[in-house]
Amino acid sequence: SSMFEHIVEAPPDPILGTALAYKADTNPNKVNLGVGAYRTEEGATYVFPVVAKVDKELAAQTLDKEYLPIDGLPGLKKVTQKLLFGECAAYRGDRICSIQALSGTGALRVGAEFMNRHLPQDWGRTVYLSDPTWGNHKQIFLAAGFAVKTYPYWDQARRCVDMDAMLHTLKFAPKHSIIVLHGCAHNPTGLDPTKDEWQQIVQVIKDNNLIPFIDTAYQGYASGDLDEDAYSLRLFESSGLEFFVAQSFAKNFGLYGERVGMFHIVASSAERAKVVLSQVKPVVRAMYSNPPVHGGRIVERILSDPTLFAEWQQQLKDVAARIHRVRSDLRGGLEAKGTPGSWEHITRQIGMFSYTGLSVAQSERMIDQWHIYMLKNGRISLAGLNHKNIPYVVGAIDDCVR
Ligand code: PMP
Repeated sequence: SSMFEHIVEAPPDPILGTALAYKADTNPNKVNLGVGAYRTEEGATYVFPVVAKVDKELAAQTLDKEYLPIDGLPGLKKVTQKLLFGECAAYRGDRICSIQALSGTGALRVGAEFMNRHLPQDWGRTVYLSDPTWGNHKQIFLAAGFAVKTYPYWDQARRCVDMDAMLHTLKFAPKHSIIVLHGCAHNPTGLDPTKDEWQQIVQVIKDNNLIPFIDTAYQGYASGDLDEDAYSLRLFESSGLEFFVAQSFAKNFGLYGERVGMFHIVASSAERAKVVLSQVKPVVRAMYSNPPVHGGRIVERILSDPTLFAEWQQQLKDVAARIHRVRSDLRGGLEAKGTPGSWEHITRQIGMFSYTGLSVAQSERMIDQWHIYMLKNGRISLAGLNHKNIPYVVGAIDDCVR
């Protein structure tokens, strides 16, 4: 007998599971539009040339493999703050408390754990996520003891953001609820609020005493411009609110498996930021002690050196531009074929994903009959498309929606 007798097998993770199913598939036409990792026009994995260069430099130096401090590389703090916040009042006034985290997921998880431990007990523990959102958000906040609710986001009929419904829900959410927002390039819909809508969101959050937690995993991917993609975050900063930020370098540095990101808290004073940092550290110490060193060194080096920074910025622009191209090629292919429905939303959406509007049944048919791996909610990663497989994918979508 086994003490594990009563345990039933869990289903595979819906996102990471598609990558495994794709690997196991032997059909020569198979296409992976599941997981959000960049691929080149040739369908190959991609290491940013500037990352490869710094990697070599670091290897040549044979740096030590000692433990980092609990909050990571000291030099990462200011450079990652500057990237995201710009040289704003909070940055200049040392009001941002920052720790290096295990990529975006780790930053969210540390943030959730910190909030559970340290927000006032009578504030409830409710988190509002966009409907829909990245699949892991719910599990992360549930794991830290929060109740999870949603605010409306995607309007299926009009294939756009349902801003009125979103603002209405935020207006009537219990005060001190935590509102998770995607900083840019919303996953999975690829649709962000306009600048004017962001101002309304900030206002309602402020008026209703809500707590923003901004998840930014695609800075540079939405518009190709780092500052433009930080608009919403900088708006929150200038509003004077205190808030939380998870910053991932998985996509915009292509450092997925290195697990490097930052968790930031913007506080009302430098003194509060210092005290808060002292209490984030014990949270981290009990979970994983301290972060991995290698990816952090790469990011620190690139962000600290103007020449490397310029190279990175250009390479990121090129990546974003290729994704823009495949968007219009996909839409153009569907329109040329006369595939029923409107495909205009594909080019209106931004970032790595398109929320195609395909139903669960249609998405399953894409996978089962056409060997095109995607999420069953209709989300495809555009990074997996290229000139060779677009005609095949167009044919498959055409078949599945007819
Ligand atoms: N948030 C969102 C919205 C994401 O799409 C992702 C990546 N899929 C993440 C956070 C975190 O990813 P990672 O932990 O690899 O940085």
